[in-house]
Amino acid sequence: MTDEFRKPGARKVGQVKEVTSLANPIIKDIKALSNKKDREAAGIFMAEGLKLVIDALELGWEIRTLIYAKAAKAKPLVEQVATRTVANGGLVLEVSEKVLSSVTRRDNPQMVVGIFAQRWKRLEDLVPAKDDTIVALDRVRDPGNLGTIIRTADAAGASAVILVGDCTDAFSLETVRATMGSVFAIPVVKCSAEEFLVWQKRSGVNVVATHLAGAVDYRTADYKSKPVVILMGNEQSGLPDNLAKAANRTVRIPQQGRADSLNLAVATAVMLFEARRHLLTLEDRT
Ligand code: SAM
Repeated sequence: MTDEFRKPGARKVGQVKEVTSLANPIIKDIKALSNKKDREAAGIFMAEGLKLVIDALELGWEIRTLIYAKAAKAKPLVEQVATRTVANGGLVLEVSEKVLSSVTRRDNPQMVVGIFAQRWKRLEDLVPAKDDTIVALDRVRDPGNLGTIIRTADAAGASAVILVGDCTDAFSLETVRATMGSVFAIPVVKCSAEEFLVWQKRSGVNVVATHLAGAVDYRTADYKSKPVVILMGNEQSGLPDNLAKAANRTVRIPQQGRADSLNLAVATAVMLFEARRHLLTLEDRT
């Protein structure tokens, strides 16, 4: 990657560039962000849409590069975001729609794209309070599922999402798209299954694991007396024995009909809103 793109300190403050060629090295670097390795190496990711970029800035995320279509140049909000990016030492690129399409891999791209520094919460810094609900996902593979779960966790008032084991990347374009901006609102942690088990013991949480073979109806679990971790299994193979056995409760969402199981994101939503229902008082529910 070009230094100019990677290190904000390496370039002059206040730089705005016009780019129309797909062969431009900065555009090549941005396109490389579709690879997890390149995203990790540079510690950055891409988010599409003016609203998302504004929300992210308001939540204190560090913008490295702002890209906008020429046609959006005159919009006051775009100007404001560009000014803020430059003031933060970021790079602003005014590009053709062809370049935007290529960078976002979409025929009808958003007019504004932001490139932000990734932010991971460390497991040791995750200290749950009594009424906290946390989602832990074992080896989630599908970016659409992960994005939907981050969005749902945000909507249900959860305090974090933990990615356990080899999971799809929280900062891929597909995941970020599916979060609809909630990736900026919910802390995301990644760890191995072993690290999760150590943390689980140390932090005194109540782990409610979901399993198709769970003996207990999910509505009867305790979501109230301690911070709760809702543990969800992998899309194909479900929860492995070591995680299921270490949980405080293994629950099942009763089903009817012919489907073997619920989709992972749907099952997580059912669990999160059940936990929320237990936490809300009657007055809160109005
Ligand atoms: N073939 C997998 C299995 O045997 O577990 C199905 C996995 S399911 C698609 C993905 C995850 O969603 C499960 O590991 C579990 O966490 C959750 N899940 C789906 N349906 C569920 C249900 N009815 N009760 C409890 N958890 C469920």
